[in-house]
Amino acid sequence: MLKNRPFRTFLGIFLLAGIGFLVASRNDDDTGQTYMALATTVLTNPSRIAITIDDLPYVMPSKTSPDEGLRYTNQINAALQKHGIIATGFAVGQQINPQSLPALRAFAGAGHTIGNHSWSHPDYGTLTRDEFHGETGRTDEILQQWIDGPRYYRFPFLREGETEATKAAATQVLAEFGYQNVPVTIDNDEWQFNADYLEALEEGNAAVAATIARDYVAHMQERTAFFQTLAIDELGGDVDHILLIHLNRINADHLGTLLEWYDAQGWTFILVEEAITHPLFSRPDIYAGSRGLSQIERVLGGKHE
Ligand SMILES: [Zn+2]
Repeated sequence: MLKNRPFRTFLGIFLLAGIGFLVASRNDDDTGQTYMALATTVLTNPSRIAITIDDLPYVMPSKTSPDEGLRYTNQINAALQKHGIIATGFAVGQQINPQSLPALRAFAGAGHTIGNHSWSHPDYGTLTRDEFHGETGRTDEILQQWIDGPRYYRFPFLREGETEATKAAATQVLAEFGYQNVPVTIDNDEWQFNADYLEALEEGNAAVAATIARDYVAHMQERTAFFQTLAIDELGGDVDHILLIHLNRINADHLGTLLEWYDAQGWTFILVEEAITHPLFSRPDIYAGSRGLSQIERVLGGKHE
């Protein structure tokens, strides 16, 4: 396990390493703008991380053909497999149909875990207890055949309830179905990069798409560093992390680059089963409100910018 807790002590060393990498990269490659961004903006202390993928079988099924959805799944599976990663994916019940089923089968067939991500991807804040029960149960029926191990739930938009009462109601419903909520530590707006990336590709603008992809990877690195630093500064030490991404085109094409970066920085990939046992996830969530937040922010009582 790689855990160098005295983060600040090592910061200078990482910074020097970053500058060295920057110089080397620029010497090697005149178009080293990307490498410069990577080297200068992202310094993390190697930790452990579980990968979770939301909105299975794949995002925007109305705009994604079943062949594309299957291809995205296979590309993501290949990127995960290269690092020996077993991920957990969260499925939206109403998006599972005969057309999208091959993608879900491919994901499960690669050995990954499937969890429940509601029936229609609603904002929990807009639901009654009964509606939440119905959303959870309907997808649970469909997922029976896919769940043979841990039973995990992921709230759409990471919104877990706007009052202590509604949070408690959700906890009761999940317990009734035997589901464990799986929060994330590294929250990000990766879906927005995917939307812009798809638009650029649709317009046939490969150069813009490539820039968005580079920005995407840099953004994910920055978010990783942000939440790691928040944990170290505010919780007294780093945690085991859970990353949120979606089953979409930008990850099909570029998740491999992001995973290479974690690997190169010395991070260890772990299962959700391992990450979720970190004390962070049994600390009281003292945030009640409409936002979807990282678990690190939840135990600290709200959003940190
Ligand atoms: Zn989702």
